[in-house]
Parts: sequence; C-alpha cells; structure tokens
Amino acid sequence: MIKKIAYLIVFGFIMCSCSQEKDTNDSNNKTEIIMNNSILDSHTLSNYKEVSIDHSHLNLTVDFNSKLIHGSVTHTINNPNKDSVFILDTKYLSIEAVSDQDGNKLDFSYGEKDDLLGVPLMVLVNSNTKKVTIAYSTTNKSEALDWLNAEQTSGKDFPFMYTQGQSIFTRSWIPIQDSPGLRITYSADVTVPAGMLPVMSAANPQIKNNTNVYSFEMNQPIPPYLIALAVGDLQFKQIDYRTGVYAEPNMLESCVDEFADMGKMVSAAEELYGEYDWERFDVIVLPPSFPFGGMENPKLTFATPTIIAGDRSLVSLIAHELAHSWSGNLVTNATWNDFWLNEGFTVYFERRIMEALYGKDYTEMLALLGYQDLQEELVTLDPKMQTLKLKMKGMHPDDAMSDIAYEKGYFFLRMIENSVGRELMDGFLKKYFSDHKFQTIVTEEFLAYLEANLINGKRESLKIDDWVYQPGLPDNCPVVDCKRFINVESAIDDFMLTNTIANLTTTEWSTHEWIHFIKNLPDTVNSNQMLMLDEAFNLSSSGNSEILAVWFERSIVSNYQPAFPYMRKFLIKVGRRKFLQPIYESLAKREDHKIWAKDVYKYARSNYHYVSFNTIDEILK
Ligand SMILES: [Zn+2]
Repeated sequence: MIKKIAYLIVFGFIMCSCSQEKDTNDSNNKTEIIMNNSILDSHTLSNYKEVSIDHSHLNLTVDFNSKLIHGSVTHTINNPNKDSVFILDTKYLSIEAVSDQDGNKLDFSYGEKDDLLGVPLMVLVNSNTKKVTIAYSTTNKSEALDWLNAEQTSGKDFPFMYTQGQSIFTRSWIPIQDSPGLRITYSADVTVPAGMLPVMSAANPQIKNNTNVYSFEMNQPIPPYLIALAVGDLQFKQIDYRTGVYAEPNMLESCVDEFADMGKMVSAAEELYGEYDWERFDVIVLPPSFPFGGMENPKLTFATPTIIAGDRSLVSLIAHELAHSWSGNLVTNATWNDFWLNEGFTVYFERRIMEALYGKDYTEMLALLGYQDLQEELVTLDPKMQTLKLKMKGMHPDDAMSDIAYEKGYFFLRMIENSVGRELMDGFLKKYFSDHKFQTIVTEEFLAYLEANLINGKRESLKIDDWVYQPGLPDNCPVVDCKRFINVESAIDDFMLTNTIANLTTTEWSTHEWIHFIKNLPDTVNSNQMLMLDEAFNLSSSGNSEILAVWFERSIVSNYQPAFPYMRKFLIKVGRRKFLQPIYESLAKREDHKIWAKDVYKYARSNYHYVSFNTIDEILK
C-alpha cells in the first residue's frame, strides 16, 4: 500500500547524508551508543540536518467558504555549510511563489511524490539567503484540517476548523521540515471571519477583537507537529492564574467545572518533575469530531468533548496532556520509532499526577485498565509492533499509536521504579527532563543516560533490552494491586450466579469500576441480563462516553439490540478514534452487524477527521 521512498534515487545526490535511516535496534550490539545526530528521521523528505528552519512566521487567512487556508510562511533558515538546496515537506499543498528576505524570486522544483510522505519542495538558496517566504494555499485534501459546518458544532451558529499535526500532518497545511527531530520557534498573523476567534499552540488572545486579525508568538522551540490552530465561536474563562478553558459559549461553564482541578494538576506536576516551562496551560474543548482524546499542543491542549462527563471522572486525560508538557513537548522523540519516549513517560507521569491528587487506590484502577488493554492488544498485534523501539520506515507513524508505546512504556518505567525505589526514580526523572529540555532524543541515548544515572550495572538483570527490543511483556512486569476492582469482580460473579441485580451496590462506583464491570462480564451474558442492567443503570443512554463505548462493545458481542439505536447516534456524533475503532472492529466480525455498521458509516463518515475515517475505511472495506 505504501510506496517505497523512490525520491532517494532521484535526489540522492543532494540528500546523501540524510537518505538512510540507521536502524539502531540491533540487540546483538547492545553496547553501541548511537546518538541523535547520526539518526535520521525516515518520515521526512526534507534535508533538516543540512539546512534547517530556526523560526517560521505564518501569515494566513482562514476561509470557511472555500474551506482553505491561504497566505504565506516565512522560514528563517540556518545553513552552516552553505548548501544550495533547502528541502521542505509538503503534502496536498498548492505552492504559488517562493522568495527570499528581499523579495527576490527563488527557483523551486518538486521531487517525486511519495504516497505516504508527500512531495519534497526543493528551493534553490545561496549563502546570502536568510529567509525563505513561500506563498501557498491548502487544498481540499489537506489531511491536517477538519472543517465543520455550523450544524456539527455545539452552538450551531458558526462553523469550526482545527488542525491535527501529529504525526506527519503539519506538512499538509504548512510547507515545512516536518520532523520531530527539528525544533523551531514560530509566530503567526491569522485572519478569520468576523465573530470568530483563532487560537494556536502559542500565547493566545482571550477575547475577540474588531480587526479579525490575531497575532501569535511561540518563543519556545517546538517540533513542527506541535504547531496547531483552531478557529470557532470561542470564549475563554480562566480557572486560575495560569490555567483556563476555551470552548463554544454554550459549553464553557460545564467545561470549566469539569476541569476545576487543572491548576492543582500543574502544581502537582511541578512538584514531581520540575518547573512548568510554558507559562500558561489552557485547554480548548473541540467539537466531537476531534479524532483523539487530547492533543498536547503546547500552551493549549486540544481536547475532545467526550471527557465532559459532568462528574470530573475523566480528567486523567487532562493530566496526560499536561504531563506531555515535560515528556513529548520539552523532551521530544527524535523519530517516530522512539514514540514510546513521548507516550510511555507521559502515561507514567499522568498516573503520578493522578496519584498525587486522588490517591493510590484510585490510580491503580487506571493502571489495571491499562494493563488489560495492553494484554488484549498483545493477542492480536503483530509481534514486530510489540517492541518499544520500533522500525517504522515505510509505515505511517500513526500505526505506532498502540498500547505498546503507552502501556508497555508505562510498565517499563514502573518496573524500574520498583527496582530502584521511588525516591531515586523521581530524582532521575527530574534530572532527565532538565538535562534534555528543549531537545530531541532517541531510545539509545535514553538507555545510555539511564544506565549512567540510575541503573548502573543492572541493564541485564532488569531485562532492559527485552523490554525495549523484544515483543511481549518480560516476566518482571509489575503486578497491579487494585483493591477497588476486587469488589467489582465479586459483583460480576454474584450477578451471573443469582441472575438479579438485587445485590449490586454501585452507588460508590466511579467510571473506572463501571468500565471494569462491563468489560469483565463473561461472554455468556445474555440479552435478558443485558436488559436488566440497562433498565437499572441506563447504560445505553449514559452521559459518560467511556462507559458507553465499553457498553456498546459488550452489546455487540451479546447482540443486545436495544443498544443499537443509541450506538448509531454515538457513532454519528463522536469522531474519537479510540472509541470508534474497537466498536467498528467488533461490528465487522458478524455479517449482519457489518451491514448495519456500513449503513451507519454512510451518515457518520463526514463527521470524522481524516485520522479516524482513514482507520474505519480499512475496517469496513
Ligand atoms: Zn499522549
């Protein structure tokens, strides 16, 4: 499906030093330490190691009529070896003109198109070229962009648009060197229609103005996948002096209430691993089509409205995105093969924040649910994709978004914590973030740093290389001690044995206990029992998206038809891939369910972002 990178043959002469990714995960050569500089990102066609962007300035107009963004980007470049070609990533962009800092035209051409990576844009530069301005427009194929009609928003009066840059989508709305191995600062002037407010992963306006032009600055260097923009009928409300929420006006109060602990979370995180380096931590709640739970765009996390449960029960997602302010945004995986360095650390950090705020018993529920998801995934996932360090060349980096990076990464760090003790672990992590801040890192560098600073001489006994380079879970994986789920498990036994809900005492249950209950109902649960639960606890019409998602999966297995109309509504409204993928996969297993799913998908697909419909297209084909 994915074409090999043919451009190498064509442009090898200018890109020779960046044309091959050095695969470093050779476990037979464990002592070799390969540093970041010699490792190249195989998901960019740019020459970011030779001529690199220092700063990008965007001057853009967001046009909702044509559903296009047009304008220009000016890159300030760093060209130490006086190379004559500056190569950028583009995908589905229309390039109009290229000029230097004095307005002189610069010649440009395109390399060969790669289906996965796009088309390299090659600009001829010379030793006097300091800035390169590219006038361009997005197209209706730009994968980063989601344009929503007013009816798809909560307020229904204004349209909405947002970008999703991770992993390799920024190149579809900005011609840029789109590698996580590069760090740049950026600024922007953005023009939007009257009555709308743009916000970015930058210092943001808090109120609308009359000019409809807004300026942004991001002075901390970030990888290009973290450049982000959202435009809608947005209002801001602060939570404390450095945290706040952007949302459509009719959702704002409930969002502020849901995220009331955000300020405390930032303080708890700082206490664990050092100062918060991004000034503000705000969250924007997007329309339901947003394909992820959250995206850690710096200064402004993008979040799905499916975490607004009314009882603050799903705020671990905010802790997760906040933790990315250290792991991911401050210290960044240099290639997508090292994605676990972003996500495994973040899950570990997220659970430490949750523990600081809500206690160990609560957090162990999150850890056990994570462990169960990981176990389920290990059954079906290709063993080649079960290693922490991946070989993603030729594959879409989004395919690395499995529980391996997140949960196996988490348990790896928890295993080290168990071995060295919490105090040493925390000291190590604090130093790790501070020593590598605003830098990128690969797995091998991390392992060398780990050995030198924490586990000297224990690499073998801790089975570090098995964790990182082998599939599955090593036998020193920590065991989760989750007391609160023991009651849930006896409740399941009792329900199945007595066939009555009389003994179910659920009033104290959190969302996580409900998830554990529903997920662990045996496959023998029949439609009558499902009906009994549904009538007593209104599960099909729950306002909690996490509960709904597992309930629908269970309903598919039990062919519990009364849930299907609710599931249909959910699938048409919600675009979060984490929910959609298992539901559609489960539906696709039975012919009559698959026909039903295809019918629903006819109405739902246009409400999904590219990231989601790309996945679901595959499942239902
Ligand atoms: Zn994450």
